[in-house]
Amino acid sequence: MKLYKTNSIKVYNSLSRSKEIFKPINDGIIGMYVCGPTVYNNVHLGNVRTFMSFDMIYRYFLHLGYKVRYVRNITDAGHLTDDDSEDKIATKARIEQLEPMEIVQKYTVDFHTILDRFNFLPPSIEPTATGHIVEQIEAIKTILDNGLAYESNGSVYFDVLKYNEDEHYGILSGRNMEDVLTNTRQLDGQSEKKNPQDFALWKKASPEHIMRWPSPWGIGFPGWHLECTVMSTKYLGETLDIHGGGLDLKFPHHECEIAQAKACNHKNPVNYWMHTNMLTLNGQKMSKSTGNSILPGEILSGENSILNKPFSAGVTRFFCMQAHYRSILDFSSDALEASEKGFNKLMEAILSLKKITPVKESKLDIALWRQKCYTAMNDDFNTPILIAHLFEGVKFINLLVEGKITISEGDLEILTSTMNSFVFDVLGLQSHMSSDDTAGEDKLSGVVEMLIDMRKIARENKEWALSDKIRDELLTLGIQLKDGKEGTTFSVN
Ligand code: AMP
Ligand code: ZN
Repeated sequence: MKLYKTNSIKVYNSLSRSKEIFKPINDGIIGMYVCGPTVYNNVHLGNVRTFMSFDMIYRYFLHLGYKVRYVRNITDAGHLTDDDSEDKIATKARIEQLEPMEIVQKYTVDFHTILDRFNFLPPSIEPTATGHIVEQIEAIKTILDNGLAYESNGSVYFDVLKYNEDEHYGILSGRNMEDVLTNTRQLDGQSEKKNPQDFALWKKASPEHIMRWPSPWGIGFPGWHLECTVMSTKYLGETLDIHGGGLDLKFPHHECEIAQAKACNHKNPVNYWMHTNMLTLNGQKMSKSTGNSILPGEILSGENSILNKPFSAGVTRFFCMQAHYRSILDFSSDALEASEKGFNKLMEAILSLKKITPVKESKLDIALWRQKCYTAMNDDFNTPILIAHLFEGVKFINLLVEGKITISEGDLEILTSTMNSFVFDVLGLQSHMSSDDTAGEDKLSGVVEMLIDMRKIARENKEWALSDKIRDELLTLGIQLKDGKEGTTFSVN
């Protein structure tokens, strides 16, 4: 039987501002859309934290036996700079003197490389904005036909006040029209809009703007919010189960997505809106534009003055998972060092599981412990509580290794599979002592033991030159032989 049948998950829905029992539209199948990166920059650790939270959620659904279609897009056009004057990718292309698509390629490769190093599962579909211009134009036509947008000087804007007559623009972020107005800056091109809170569905391209497509309203490019509406609808339907992103996307991006979708088909586009909290550095949101950021690659190399030393991808992932995805997490080298200690303890315990010999009688309630792990994850993916339970597992393992308690064969199997499932499959932690490495270490020990035996034979035959050669050459490889009363042992430096 699939595990999801016996595990009911509660998800915090940003729309209702409460935890709700998660019920997918189709039994056993989940559609999840997560806003992907705008590929004009290297991803920083804050971005990685958000995508990692959704990777963990995706992994847990898969672990429970759900069939998941996970769509995470790549924004390669339409995301305007903060002053709304230009496309972020086009701006970067000018600065780096590259084609916009070279910028897109460069930073998409960086994004994939980083996610791979941090052991992410790839999404089921990774669509791009530029690959869906036709769909975006069609959606704009529908919104115009429904009277909720207007054309102005070659651009098309969403009519927020008109929409607000029947719907609530601000339903997700909890804003009313006054809040929206006070938060809307007076920007260039504003005069084209009927009202300052209106947002662009299509922008007219100035002659020097390189990213441009023909449309019924002239040459231009789509507004940022629209791509997610059309791609989520195309691949997951008019109403989908989960839509996610960082908290900073709630307004205006996700608010606009809801308005666009309703303006197209009058349906609520998403059942569960999930938002991850921010990674901070020095108490401030990590952000590339303010320079308050650290790159994931710098953590692996240690090449950033914030860091006392380098840290592995597994430790970094563990550090992120020690906080709940809806809590703020502050980054520091000391915090990573503390995580490293915990991470090593966890990995060592998993390795020593092999040393435990089961007996008939168990002195542990392993089934209860396993259930506590699931209960933590079922409560809105509470990874810090899960990790606390995994450390209870570490305590059991250490007591078992020391022979202070006993475990039956069946319970040892449950202990081992539960530790492995949650640590590797769900949290996605990789170990530098992973099973592949362990196999490598086993082979190395076998070869060194064989050489020790051959050296022993050489010594018995008084072939001193050969015996010394074996010892010295192993030493140059960092393997030191030690002769003692019990025979010869070795250590790897
Ligand atoms: P962007 O490429 O700017 O659209 O960001 C990609 C994702 O990273 C979005 O879901 C953002 O909400 C998220 N994000 C940006 N900064 C942070 C941060 N400091 N901590 C966590 N997530 C972030
Ligand atoms: Zn989006």
